[in-house]
Amino acid sequence: MKYITKYKSPNYNSRQNSKIKLIIIHYTALKNIEDAISYLCNKEKKVSSHYLISQNGTAYNLVDDKFRAWHAGKSFWQGITDINSVSIGIELDFSPYGTNNNFSFKMMFSLKLLLNKIQKKYKISKKNVLAHSDIAPFRKKDPGKYFPWKSLSKSNIVQNFQSLSYSDKEIIEKWFNINNINSKKRENNFCIIINWIRYSSSI
Ligand SMILES: [Zn+2]
Repeated sequence: MKYITKYKSPNYNSRQNSKIKLIIIHYTALKNIEDAISYLCNKEKKVSSHYLISQNGTAYNLVDDKFRAWHAGKSFWQGITDINSVSIGIELDFSPYGTNNNFSFKMMFSLKLLLNKIQKKYKISKKNVLAHSDIAPFRKKDPGKYFPWKSLSKSNIVQNFQSLSYSDKEIIEKWFNINNINSKKRENNFCIIINWIRYSSSI
């Protein structure tokens, strides 16, 4: 895996001594890797990620792990609302609308290596490798329904999940009703529902 450290983002601050517990996977929704680097390193954009992986599998380290990168936005997970302080953010050079609309073999190969390395270093369990859509389900879709979770779970990097059974659907239905969540949004985001059942202990 080609690993590049020469581009640095100014968009970070202190983790306030929080322990790294989660890894959040994103896609950039930008045109290409050059645009992604300049966006994530632009002070005015006020966003960043620790890592960015290109279509050809090059990994860029934009923010040092010890700092709090700004990738999660308003989000929550199992009682944690400041996700940025406890996570490592990985952006993929992918856009569902562009020519980079493919989770390429090289990109996924590098992602697996990087996940492995980070998981070992900070003792992060596979159930704590999450989608941005897991932690901000009604705001974010990335990394989207085509992201190859199954292939990653075969490599034992992320939690395995079963296809939804009838009772799973009932539980989800109940959860959405209790929380008074609009059904149209739910149908549009089937991948989010799968993510929720994979991880959420609250349903
Ligand atoms: Zn994201």
